[in-house]
Amino acid sequence: MARKIFIAGNWKMNNTVAEAAALVEGLKARAGDVGNVDVAVCPTFTTLASVVAGLAGTPIKVGAQNVHWAASGAYTGEVSAAMLKETGVDYVIIGHSERRQYFGETDETVNQRTKAALAAGLLPIVCVGETLAEREAAKTEEVVKTQTEGGLAGLTAEQAATITVAYEPVWAIGTGKTATPEMAQEVHAFLRGVLAGMFGQAVADQIRIQYGGSMKPSNAAELLAQPDIDGGLIGGASLKADDFFGIVTSA
Ligand code: PEP
Repeated sequence: MARKIFIAGNWKMNNTVAEAAALVEGLKARAGDVGNVDVAVCPTFTTLASVVAGLAGTPIKVGAQNVHWAASGAYTGEVSAAMLKETGVDYVIIGHSERRQYFGETDETVNQRTKAALAAGLLPIVCVGETLAEREAAKTEEVVKTQTEGGLAGLTAEQAATITVAYEPVWAIGTGKTATPEMAQEVHAFLRGVLAGMFGQAVADQIRIQYGGSMKPSNAAELLAQPDIDGGLIGGASLKADDFFGIVTSA
């Protein structure tokens, strides 16, 4: 079945309010090139409100980079799903490998965050991916299966149909090393099978699976041409409007 390509930019911990405003101007100038692609950018918490305001009236949506599972309370440094919703964002990245690596994110907390995001009406982008050591030990499938089953445990089929999964091999993030289209497609097809096992084939066929890991204008087209690669989660190349739109237009 045809899934609409979804390209999302993960700005990570980059861009002051002024820098974000300049990038938003660049994105607005290219907004006419969105075509038949879903496009979103995910800025820091401190720039969410201004980016939402800046992109209002364009087809470019906004997402956050994390969300807490509790509604409110003594969770210093965290932000709730309702707070994000109030800010006007549509998407939220959950379980990025940097959060797993540096901030102790586990499949269980990914699951809690995903459920809270869905309950608030946000659209989660749930990240999975193996490290280089895991790939070299031939554990890629085992790792992404465990992460997917743990992160999405207990979701209804209806909820699952609204999420995006991002397959991001950790060894390809920010390293300039990209999985070959064939390597990525193999894991994406495997992941779709895992999703079919959890939610049924019809739902698995609706779930978009993005590739992430050094995607750029020069390699996006061949990755996005793979049958189970339904978009990209873009780090470095999302910080320049023309690079980001080079990927959007190659879809
Ligand atoms: C990411 O962090 O989600 C990512 C894919 O980064 P990069 O594109 O810089 O590899």
